[in-house]
Amino acid sequence: MRLTKQKHALNQALGKMDNFFNAEDLHAEVSKIGIATIYRYLTLAVKRGELHGYQCNNKAIYSTSKKNHSHFICEKCGSVKHIDVKKLDFLQEQMKGKICHVQIDVRGICEKCKKG
Ligand SMILES: [Zn+2]
Ligand SMILES: [Zn+2]
Ligand SMILES: [Zn+2]
Repeated sequence: MRLTKQKHALNQALGKMDNFFNAEDLHAEVSKIGIATIYRYLTLAVKRGELHGYQCNNKAIYSTSKKNHSHFICEKCGSVKHIDVKKLDFLQEQMKGKICHVQIDVRGICEKCKKG
């Protein structure tokens, strides 16, 4: 596949991703394109501000639309729970610029460990 064609296919596949996805998910959509090319494409897309990039379980995940991806991590048992941080006003107030996306990792003791 020519480079421009590859890019077109990748852009199209990206349009289908409406939730969080990783390189393998995108690869499943455009299996003709090598995984190395996909990794490169994703890294560049984040740099260009076309994608928001996050870390989830030590893996890079991406989203075209979701502006926050946050975890609650239990320091006792290591369990990870996804939390939804809807209001970012408290952060915006402290910033002079514009927030692109937010990943908050909250650490503490989970409900189960708190009880036991
Ligand atoms: Zn972003
Ligand atoms: Zn996550
Ligand atoms: Zn726990």
